[in-house]
Amino acid sequence: MNQAHPTGDFDGLAALVTGGASGIGAAIAALLRDRGARVAVLDRDPAGAPAGTLPVKADVTSDEAIRNGVAEVVAEFGALHTVVGNAGIGAIGTVEDNSDEEWRRVLDVNVLGLVRTARAALPHLRAAAAERPGAVSITHTCSIAATAGLPQRAAYSASKGAVLALTLAMAADHVRDGIRVNCVNPGTVDTPWVGRLLGRAADPAAERAALEARQPTGRLVSADEVAAAVAYLAGPAAAAVTGTALAVDGGMQGLRLRPA
Ligand code: NAD
Repeated sequence: MNQAHPTGDFDGLAALVTGGASGIGAAIAALLRDRGARVAVLDRDPAGAPAGTLPVKADVTSDEAIRNGVAEVVAEFGALHTVVGNAGIGAIGTVEDNSDEEWRRVLDVNVLGLVRTARAALPHLRAAAAERPGAVSITHTCSIAATAGLPQRAAYSASKGAVLALTLAMAADHVRDGIRVNCVNPGTVDTPWVGRLLGRAADPAAERAALEARQPTGRLVSADEVAAAVAYLAGPAAAAVTGTALAVDGGMQGLRLRPA
């Protein structure tokens, strides 16, 4: 167990993290593991799943692949208590830039991916909730793009707006099953995803400095900081928390700073 979290508040719990082989998802999977959970990482490319987790190769655009993946996890762990729907992709552009096909792809991964994951997991979560009241949850990785009005992110923002609404609707639908549903809204997080975006800039170092300067805190959010928020929402300390979106954005959305 990680000495930073000696309580082992996920001891005896089984967790599934989609998109857990990179960036935010990998940080979540590693943290839940360190806090005592048995953790499965469902990813289309699971090579980067943290050590000590169960890698499951599945694409969230396939209902069958997710069903099989969830069945594999439950067969291995004997139960499922904690689901983190985190797999997501980006799209850059205005409504004039992206084709219907590009829109469908983003919505398929970012929104329907969560729907398929929940559909496959819910029967197992319901069964687990009967035995472990308060300990069973679904947490989505949403984004400040859901409500911020970011330029050049029309399809991505629409997908994350849908994730926010989906989270609230699912929280209402499953509260009486003993299943809590929440989301985190990260700002700009230092992950391979952002690295890829910066890599396309003419001067990546200058672009990174400009990005950092736009953050109220003067720095990007770390994947570990998002993971800590997810572990809170998924863990027993949040037993009374459902239907909530927790911003982890260095103040990007809430603060209105005076120009320097
Ligand atoms: P990342 O690209 O580093 O990791 C994404 C992971 O998801 C990868 O392991 C990838 O293989 C997996 N994945 C992608 N599509 C998949 C699919 N169809 N099926 C299965 N697995 C799939 O990205 P990240 O920055 O860690 O982002 C993770 C989540 O966080 C996404 O939902 C993203 O929208 C959200 N987010 C990221 C940021 C940021 O600044 N990085 C900000 C807000 C929200």
